[in-house]
Order: sequence, then C-alpha cells, then structure tokens
Amino acid sequence: MVPAVRLVLLGKQGAGKGTQCVRLSRHYVVPHISTGDMLRSAARSGTDFGREVADYMRMGELVPDDVMIKVVEHRLDQHDTRNRGFILDGFPRTTYQAEALEDLLAPDGLDLVLDLEVAEEVVLKRLASRRVCTVCGTIFGLDNPPRWRNICDSCGGELAQREDDTEDSIRRRLELYATSTEPLINWYLERGKLAAVDGLGEPERVTSRLIRAIDNRRHRPPQYPG
Ligand code: AMP
Repeated sequence: MVPAVRLVLLGKQGAGKGTQCVRLSRHYVVPHISTGDMLRSAARSGTDFGREVADYMRMGELVPDDVMIKVVEHRLDQHDTRNRGFILDGFPRTTYQAEALEDLLAPDGLDLVLDLEVAEEVVLKRLASRRVCTVCGTIFGLDNPPRWRNICDSCGGELAQREDDTEDSIRRRLELYATSTEPLINWYLERGKLAAVDGLGEPERVTSRLIRAIDNRRHRPPQYPG
C-alpha cells in the first residue's frame, strides 16, 4: 500500500486543480477533498446549510472562514483521511484558514503545498470553455474536450457550464484569489512547504510534474538542524 500523503493544491480558478486532484488521488490512493464540490453538493441537496452557502457561491464570494473551517475539520476527522491522508483542493483560501489547518493537523502538519502556475489569460480562456458532467463531475475543457459533443466520456451524462462560471463571478473570484489566496504562496514558502509546478500543457504531463515534485519531497532524507 502506498504511504499516506497530506497535500494542498493551490492555483487560480481554471488552473486545473480539480482535474489534477482527481488524477493524484488515484495515483496515491488518497481522498480528494474539494471544498467547492462539498458546498455544491450541499447546495443541490437543498439543506439549510446548502441554502446558506449557495448565494456566496453564485456571486463568487468566499464562504465565511469559520463555516469553512468546521466543514474541513469534520471531513479530516473521517476514517479514510485519518488513515490515508488527503489532497485538499480549494482549502485553505485565506491565511486564517491556513492557520486553522495547521492547528487541525498538529503536530504532523502538511507534507507539501503545490502551487499550480497558470497565467491569467490562460485561465480566462479555460474558464469560458469549462464544462462539467452533471452526473459524475468530470471536468472538460480546451485541453481535454469531450469525444462526443456535450456528452461525458466517463459516464454518458450531460455536460453543463458551472453556475458560477459567469463573467462577473469569474472576475470576482480571480480578484479574491489575488487578494486572499495568493499571499498563501509566500506563507507556505516561508514555512518550507511550497513547490511551484508549471500547470500548462497536456493534463498527463502536468500530473507527471506534480508527482515528481511530491515524490522528491517524500523521498528526501530527514533534515537535521545544524
Ligand atoms: P471552487 O470549486 O473551489 O472554485 O469553489 C466554489 C465556491 O465555493 C467558491 O467561489 C466559494 O464561494 C466557495 N468556497 C469553496 N472553498 C472555499 C473556502 N475554502 N473558503 C471560502 N469559500 C469557499
């Protein structure tokens, strides 16, 4: 069995985090925790919590930190994540969330934070063409179009645009990424946890780069002070 990993993937909306997290979660046999997917599923099921978060999501605003921290705390306390670790996608998005995550994971902490680097003009093109399977959630776009029109290659479900992939919401989400989430790159760099990976190109090639960065870190001998 592959040893457990505890990873975070950072990157702008449209950088390919969702697609890459699915691939990494298969490679390392580890749960992919997407806070966006969890919130969308709550919103679809129409629970009180789902109704509470739906408006934030539609407008591209961040759900309040305390709410998100409770969601993640509960998820990280499940059997699979405690045994296998996790790949976090969409969390943390603010320094406050990053600090809370450190507390939740103490004393072990994260293995590595990957920053998937893609220029803004590229993500804008990708977001405009992004389609998601309404049944299984597989993501399609310019780099991996569906084989047959609007039909999912994996399950035959219908593809649709995400409700928050509108021009206004995309602008707002990228603005929030720059002001609230991008500072985390330095925050993790200062703590010796960051690896930057080029997110451009075929999804398979990006996955190989990510795996190389993760394995380099995992196989590095322990660092002794002095
Ligand atoms: P995503 O699928 O990661 O792009 O997330 C979709 C939406 O869910 C975001 O635009 C936010 O409204 C909300 N969301 C997801 N994760 C978080 C988080 N860690 N903090 C605040 N809001 C979040």
